[in-house]
Amino acid sequence: MRWMNFLGLSLAAQKTEAVLISSRKIVETATILIDGNAVQSRRTIRYLGVWIDTRLCFREHLASQLCPVCSGEIVEYAQHILFKCRRFDDGRRVLETKMEICAENLVELMMARKSMWEAVSSFAASAIPELRLAERGRSRPGVA
Ligand SMILES: [Zn+2]
Repeated sequence: MRWMNFLGLSLAAQKTEAVLISSRKIVETATILIDGNAVQSRRTIRYLGVWIDTRLCFREHLASQLCPVCSGEIVEYAQHILFKCRRFDDGRRVLETKMEICAENLVELMMARKSMWEAVSSFAASAIPELRLAERGRSRPGVA
């Protein structure tokens, strides 16, 4: 921690998480002392939305990205949400009354007319709160 003090930086023990990255077979832990408070390393931590694990294999992160509604190993990326996910069927139906969309024509349609832009924007605005809520509700994987 001396280098942090030298740079005028400090850590708050209650806000600090640690992960010990190693390729050793046995998962090891480390304890960091911050102003006399012990911070124990964990098997995974989440930083800027990414689950970082001791092996840097990102298994927990990939699992956290799977759609919680659709069966199988479906990653919840934009194309799935816009065109496939059952959670957003109602919004998609509304959108499809205005245009027949697919991944290949979506941007072109949005750029062609303001009403198309607004329809897609409205769909996204209705989906985002549900996606954020689901994100917050996901349990923390692999906390030791
Ligand atoms: Zn889905």
